[in-house]
Amino acid sequence: MGSVPAPDSRPRHARGEQGWKQPCDNAGLVFPAHTLNSVLVQTLTTAAWLAVPALIGRLAFGADAGWALFAGGLLIVSGYHARNLRRLLDWLGNPDPGDVPEASGAWDDAFALLHRRERRLAQERQRLARLVVRYSQAGRALPDGVVILDGDDRIVWCNGKAEARFGIDGKTDVGQPITNLVRQPEFVKYLAAGDYTGPAQLKTARGAALSLSVQIIPYDDAQKLLLARDITQAERLDTMRRDFVANVSHELRTPLTVLTGFLETVRELKLDPDRARNYMGMMAGQASRMQRIIDDLLTLSALESAPQPPWDRQVPMRAVLDSLCADAEALSGGRHRISLDAQGDWDLLGAESEIASALRNLITNAIRYSPAGGEVRLIWRASADGASFAVEDSGVGIEPEHIPRLTERFYRVDSGRSRETGGTGLGLAIVKHALLRHQASLQIESEPGKGSRFTVRFPARRVAAGHQSSGVTV
Ligand code: ADP
Repeated sequence: MGSVPAPDSRPRHARGEQGWKQPCDNAGLVFPAHTLNSVLVQTLTTAAWLAVPALIGRLAFGADAGWALFAGGLLIVSGYHARNLRRLLDWLGNPDPGDVPEASGAWDDAFALLHRRERRLAQERQRLARLVVRYSQAGRALPDGVVILDGDDRIVWCNGKAEARFGIDGKTDVGQPITNLVRQPEFVKYLAAGDYTGPAQLKTARGAALSLSVQIIPYDDAQKLLLARDITQAERLDTMRRDFVANVSHELRTPLTVLTGFLETVRELKLDPDRARNYMGMMAGQASRMQRIIDDLLTLSALESAPQPPWDRQVPMRAVLDSLCADAEALSGGRHRISLDAQGDWDLLGAESEIASALRNLITNAIRYSPAGGEVRLIWRASADGASFAVEDSGVGIEPEHIPRLTERFYRVDSGRSRETGGTGLGLAIVKHALLRHQASLQIESEPGKGSRFTVRFPARRVAAGHQSSGVTV
């Protein structure tokens, strides 16, 4: 015979019985019908339990004894209920979900309901907290600054980007009117005008000066979402584009004006053949200057739109250096002492034409900006850690304030000298672009009147073991 399991004396909610996993109204304490029925049954049972001993007492000892027993029983039951009511009130005064009172009988049902409701509320609270965390994480990840404003334009919440862009503190500035912190007149006017169909633009002077495009999006009757997009870079690009178009127009207009002038002279005047030939030569010079500018512009544009240089194409540096050296000799025409000192049995990885063109531009400049009798040294060093190519000259040198701007398009230290030597002002811009595409850097050192050194450095991932090229000196 199997033994009968001992009855579980724990309250029902602690036992986790199915019976109290009934739907319940989370908003308030609504007892389901079966709980009310159970309370009724238990109350009747209690009354019956009080009546039985009272009846026995009355039969055995008379009516007084029966009433006394009944009253005593009632007192005990009332005390029990009063005690549980006290515990309920205490708990309601400080509702700790993990500390719902436990009892038996009808109170077990009531406490079980409470327990269940509290558990659901705790779960709901957790879910909402997770949701809030997720929303604020998403808000923080946005590339734009976001500020939530209440009906009185006071800060309710803001993300990190808004903190940085407006200089506000997402913790201590909550509740502050936004106009106390973002005081630019353009913003104050935009906010007050109430016409939020388009954005407003403002400048901030915090840290690096920023240009912001701010847009207010009203929602939920009175609340507002303030978005702040950083358009500094876009504005800079726009200015660069405008400057570039103006520069190109200017650069082309100058030779074109000269050319037109010569053409008119040749057409209007009766020139002797020598003079006419002389004019033609000057016109050809202006035309080829325009040609060089256009060629350089096309080279720049090709560099900007070309696919990334390959990682698997080996540039035979020995051959490239020899060819660069021969070109340098030809350009100099014997007016300079040119030497090549190459060490390191390593090649570069990338686009040969771009690398050769960048290095050639540096060599050409060294020759153009060094007077006759000057020296130009080409130094190549390569190892598994990377490679460098330096062009040293004993030329005119460059004042320090010009050095950071040399790679800008059409930037020249001395326009006259640049034009005299056939420069377009685009050479170093091309060098910079080609090098950037190969993850290489350009370092410029110079001393006015003494000479300059332009050093290109390629990272380790752009070098590969190559053909023997060490110790070549021309
Ligand atoms: P450019 O066609 O005018 O030479 P670059 O972009 O090649 O244009 O060079 C920009 C400016 O940098 C030049 O105008 C020149 O003033 C200066 N520069 C470049 N290389 C040298 C150098 N080796 N020595 C002195 N100045 C140089």
